[in-house]
Amino acid sequence: MLIAGNWKMNTDARSSVELAQGIVREMVDSPSLTVAVCPPSPLLSGVAEALKGSRIRLGAQNIYWADAGAFTGEISAQMLLSLGCHYVILGHSERRQHFGETDGGVNSKVKQAVSTGLIPIICVGEQLNQRKAGKEQEVVALQVRFALEGIQVKAPNAIVIAYEPVWAIGTGETATPDQAQQMHAFIRSLIRQQFGNTIASKVNILYGGSMNPSNAEELLSQPDVNGGLIGGASLKADAFGKIIRAAQLVV
Ligand code: PEP
Repeated sequence: MLIAGNWKMNTDARSSVELAQGIVREMVDSPSLTVAVCPPSPLLSGVAEALKGSRIRLGAQNIYWADAGAFTGEISAQMLLSLGCHYVILGHSERRQHFGETDGGVNSKVKQAVSTGLIPIICVGEQLNQRKAGKEQEVVALQVRFALEGIQVKAPNAIVIAYEPVWAIGTGETATPDQAQQMHAFIRSLIRQQFGNTIASKVNILYGGSMNPSNAEELLSQPDVNGGLIGGASLKADAFGKIIRAAQLVV
């Protein structure tokens, strides 16, 4: 089980360290539970320092697909690895919506992450009108297939998928446990088709979309929900701590 906090474009040099220290205090000792935080890139090294000695892992929110070079403003996988990052969130709906991220771009970034040893948390999810039209599986299948096209996955923990229905992100509206379970089982079947059952049965598929201390336990108890990607509720150490403890109850 993986509980990951997506801090998005929040906090600053000081408050990111305070938040990380607060989360370290909330951390539980459970070998089958991994906790990660994904601060904004300029704050990674301060947060890395604050997490030292804890089991909490570090992640980032984006990479570029080249190793290095004349790409002003971009961040490489190698830079993140050198700061101690394990994870990188890729294809988040906010990047798709506001920054023109395409399925092809996500695929190039996933390739770069996997080949450098960074674990991509690949975000997929339908919009409300697509769900209303009954097209949610079609949309998610395309996103998953595109993101993973040509990717070699040798171990289940080399990638993470996050199912994040766009209508549930930052809206306070969550998928019901049944809706989440259904989509997660479907995503697992797509992974099985591409990579076989050994990978599919163990790959972490996270739910994201207004997960909070009151709905976490029910969502996380679904058999195909292997954790959460948490935005708003990861910005308060006590709320994030409650979600960590809910995960601990169900692993
Ligand atoms: C997210 O941005 O990945 C997310 C799930 O946000 P929130 O928890 O705020 O809906």
